[in-house]
Amino acid sequence: MTRAGPDPFAGATFETRAIHTAQEPDPATGAVAVPIYQTSTFAGDDVDRDQPWTYSRSGNPTRAALEVCLASLEGAAHGFCYASGLAAEDAVLRLLLRPGDHLVVPRDFYGGTYRLLARVWEALDVRFTSVDLADPGALDAAWQPATRLVWVESPTNPRLDIVDIAAVSGVAHGRGGLCVVDNTLPSPWLQQPLALGADVVVHSTTKYLGGHSDVLGGFVGLSDDGRAERLALLQSATGAVPGPVDCFLVLRGVKTLALRMERHCANASAVAGMLCAHPAVGSVLYPGLPGHPGHELATRQMRGFGGMVSFTLAGGEEAAKRFCAATRLFALGGSLGGVESLVAYPPTMSHFAMQGTDLAADPALVRLSVGIEGVDDILADLHQALDGL
Ligand SMILES: *Cc1c(COP(=O)(O)O)cnc(C)c1O
Repeated sequence: MTRAGPDPFAGATFETRAIHTAQEPDPATGAVAVPIYQTSTFAGDDVDRDQPWTYSRSGNPTRAALEVCLASLEGAAHGFCYASGLAAEDAVLRLLLRPGDHLVVPRDFYGGTYRLLARVWEALDVRFTSVDLADPGALDAAWQPATRLVWVESPTNPRLDIVDIAAVSGVAHGRGGLCVVDNTLPSPWLQQPLALGADVVVHSTTKYLGGHSDVLGGFVGLSDDGRAERLALLQSATGAVPGPVDCFLVLRGVKTLALRMERHCANASAVAGMLCAHPAVGSVLYPGLPGHPGHELATRQMRGFGGMVSFTLAGGEEAAKRFCAATRLFALGGSLGGVESLVAYPPTMSHFAMQGTDLAADPALVRLSVGIEGVDDILADLHQALDGL
């Protein structure tokens, strides 16, 4: 959906746009919360006259509010919402790739994206090569005549590598290709890829944007008018759209995104510091640590370092599995970005599809999604779990 007229909040801060853009009081009733338009179809009165709304697969006012608001937060001219993050990714692949095409992906990235490429898109004769995008020269070297795009995550999931989005976009554009960024981990509050030169931004709104682990959703933002027109057709023609209640929940979550992210970042930073000092911990992967290889770049590219912390256990795979079973406040769960703290073991959870390949997750690595509970309770739980190993 593309905003019809000018946004009266266009010049406002991020926090204000999160609360107000496309969320003006309902003209029919004055409702200050965007209503849940729980309807499949809309009545018209003349077959020859265009109606603003016809059928909810093609467009729904609750979904439109979310699409316009998220587009504003990402600095995109156009936004499209989906039933899940992977449905959004699939829409981007349909938009940009044809049989015979090739794309470059990071060496570390979300396991579901890997599965979509390896188990669905390879059968459509779309191939991919994985490279360490922390080195933009590696992207140039991997670029083939059939390469159409580079798929970026930064920070990556689960190793939290930092990729120079401006540099990688520059390489892709120099080769006549495009740069797509999965911005799920930082959220638009910490990083806006289109402003850094990327062409398309994609989200699992299930994570920080929704923020409460109570809804699935996806989003695609882009500013090229021609591609947006095609994506609008694809969205309606293939139909992986979210329902109005789901859109309402994400829209509600977005209102507190900035506040939540600030607390996620502060708590994660405290967790990273505590883990660094614990003898049961091997290495700590957090871009906020001065020793992290991407620290300086993250300082330039992001507003903060995010709520995710990954680390290895000195005792290896067995210790990692015992740790995951020993936390109490941190539930063992394969998601991230909610208000509650979660611990995940990527090799058997989020990155299971990569097992047995050279992209497999480190068996000694544990991933934390640090929530916004009281930091003392978070630290105490991690302490008791580590101390008991
Ligand atoms: C969760 C996630 C996805 C997939 O989103 P769903 O909403 O679960 O389909 C994509 N990318 C990243 C980085 C994720 O964490």
